[in-house]
Parts: sequence; structure tokens; C-alpha cells
Amino acid sequence: MSALTYRWAALSDVGLRRSDNQDAGYAGPHLLVLADGMGGAAAGDLASSTVVRELRKLDAPVRADDESMEALAGAIHRANDVLGETIAENPAVEGMGTTLEALLWDGTQLSQAHIGDSRSYRLRDGRLEQLNLDHTFVQSLVDEGRISPEEARVHPHRSLILRALLGRDDNDPDLYSVTPRAGDRFLLCSDGLSDMVEDDVIATTLGSGSIDLAATELVRKALEAGGHDNVTVVIAEFVANDTTGDEPADAPGGPHPGPAAQSNDELACADGQPQLVGAAAMQPRPPTGRSVQPTEMIEMDPEEARYAPRPPRRFRKLRWLLGIVVVLALLGVGLKAGYDWTQRQYYVSDHDGYVAVYRGVSADIPGLNLHRLDRSTGVRVSDLPQYNREQVTDGIEARDRDDADKIVESLSEAAKKSKERDDESDRSTDSRATGDHGDKAPS
Ligand code: CA
Repeated sequence: MSALTYRWAALSDVGLRRSDNQDAGYAGPHLLVLADGMGGAAAGDLASSTVVRELRKLDAPVRADDESMEALAGAIHRANDVLGETIAENPAVEGMGTTLEALLWDGTQLSQAHIGDSRSYRLRDGRLEQLNLDHTFVQSLVDEGRISPEEARVHPHRSLILRALLGRDDNDPDLYSVTPRAGDRFLLCSDGLSDMVEDDVIATTLGSGSIDLAATELVRKALEAGGHDNVTVVIAEFVANDTTGDEPADAPGGPHPGPAAQSNDELACADGQPQLVGAAAMQPRPPTGRSVQPTEMIEMDPEEARYAPRPPRRFRKLRWLLGIVVVLALLGVGLKAGYDWTQRQYYVSDHDGYVAVYRGVSADIPGLNLHRLDRSTGVRVSDLPQYNREQVTDGIEARDRDDADKIVESLSEAAKKSKERDDESDRSTDSRATGDHGDKAPS
């Protein structure tokens, strides 16, 4: 019998600004999962729920030592394959993807998987620790000391994710092993919480009262702070698994109202039942036989589009399409005005294999060149992570020249990070294969 066990609680809310919930979560006796889908309505929820539903097959009694990590990695691979198959069968959901946080309990260790900008925290002795680093552009700037974590919270490109599960084979999660102690509380959450609520408030709230109450309070605080996004929390509280009913003296939440310290294997959340929340609790289906109307494209949340590593193609082309429409519309009024408008636009694309800034719109009409090279940069397109490469090939819109410069800077960082990651993964291949991992993310 294991010396530790845990109770769990999960809660998801659509938030105050969005009409659908693209987060999905699961909590059960061996497994905790959180996924934050992206790619627009009907795609983001499909992506996150697909991955959560695939992963929950792992929630079964303990396997032999050292097999946990392998089982988790394998399940994530399969879930990612299912995502890829779903996308192949339904072009309408092209560009969908999801973040993933997963903790698999084998009775001694937690095997942890992380990809994207969702968070895993551990609260131990009142101190909150983020267990791994966001796979975001702003985190790469923080890592290099170029901006502070406080600046990252308000950075205009804070939603730009560098890695996510996209149904392709070029994005693997980070895998770690974590050793819990009695009294530890673990929190998996979507950025709908971590973007809205400061870490010190998360720490206090996570440590107060029962975990059910903590889950409710965390979601309530995200909504109070504006509820800009879907907000989902999955919480586990580790307790001693003994028949004397001893609670660790420093357990932050105190006795749980559930069946504390009775049947050890049943010691869980209030009713001991696995919980499925958010999109995973619904039945998202790929959209079929329904074309997207132009008005819907225009109303698509720009933040959502930026959030997706590969936004749907139809949206990427929209502004350029608009560029042509504006030019054509203005032909009757004055060709020059329309042309001038296009020349105030900027975008980033490739030029002879290098990232370059263009002025104008990435489209021409016969007899009229609507764009020209503004400047080329030293960033090789081939050095970029795959989805950045695709973004550049398709062209990335910029608000103005400054914004174009920032995008170039972010791509430069991504190229650098990609190389570092490749080096790092070469070095750590052996240790990963043996499942010998530290508690902390590699710096
Ligand atoms: Ca989100």
C-alpha cells in the first residue's frame, strides 16, 4: 500500500467574455489532466476534449515502477495522433490544437507532462511553486532577462505560444517526475486563471479551506478580475494513506469534508468519483456541412487568432483579402487613396530564405504591385520551429512598422530557442529514456 494518496477537485467556467468553453479537465484517482484548446469555436473545444478523453484511459491502477512516464508519453502520442486524424478528416478544424498539463500517479511518483501555456503549481508549506515554464514567446524573453515576469504579464504578444499539441509530430511535451509529500496541493490551471489572478492570490486561495472550496474560490477570483477567458482548475491534495487517520500537521486545508481517512483507496474528493469538466464534459463535434460566413470571420476574436500557433487559413488571408476589396472598392472613388492604405500596412514573410519585413499587402492586382520589401533580416526561415516557418511562409500581419519589428524579434527568439531546445533534447535523451528526472524544469 502506498504511503500517500490524494483527494481531487475540478471546476471549469466559460468566463464572462467567451461564448463557449474550450478548456477541458479531468480528475480521477490516478490521473489529473487539463487542456486549453485553441483554433476557434468548435475546434478548440474539440481539440482539448479529444486529448482529455484519450488521456483518461490512463486512469487505471498502478503499473510497475518506471512504466508510468512511458505510459504517459505513449498516451499523449496517441492523443496527438487522434488529433491529427480528426484534422485530416475535417479540414474545417485545421489549425486546432491544445495545451496540456497531466499528472499521472503511480503511488510513489507523479509523472508530469507539460506543453503550452497552461500551468502546474505545487503549494508546499504555504509556498507556491510553478512546476514548469510556459512555452511562450514572453517566457523566452524572461528567460534571457530581457523582460521581467511582471512585464510579461502585460506584453502585447503574451499569448503567443511556442509549443502545443497540434496533431503533428513536431511538438512533444516536457516530461518530469515529481515526488509529492503529505500536505502538498497541486493545481493545474488554464491561463484564464493565471493571466487574471496573481500568484500570491493563487497561493492564498489554493491553501484555504477544502480543495472544493479552493477550486470554487479560484474560479470566482478569475471571474471577478474580468473573466476574459475560460477558466479551469484541477486540484489534488496529498494526504497520508494510513488507517490511523493522521492528518499532516501542516496540511494547508485541514480536514476535508469528504470521507477522510476511512477506506484508504477511496480517499478522494467528496464522493470519490472521477470528474470531467469543461469541453470534455460536453460532446464537441467537428463542424460539418456548414460554411463560415464572412461576417463570422470578421467577428472572430483577434486574440484567439494570435493565440493559435496556426490560425485557420481563412482568417490569415482575411486582411489581405480585405486589402484587395478596399482597393477595388476605392477604384470608383480614387485609386490612389486605396493604394495609399495598402502602403501603410506591414507584414512579415520570407525573402530568399530569410525573415523579411514587407510594406503593403501580400496580394497584387493586375498591373499594380501592392507590396515591396522593406527590409530583410538575418533570421533564417529554416532555423524557425515548424509552425513559425509556416506562419512566415503564409505571412504574419503587423499593425505597423514597430509591430513588424517586434514580430521579427519574436521570431529571432523562437529560432534561438528552437536551437537551444534541440541541443537540450539531444543532451537529455538518455536521462528521459530512463525516466530519471528532477522535480524542476531544466533552466
Ligand atoms: Ca485560454
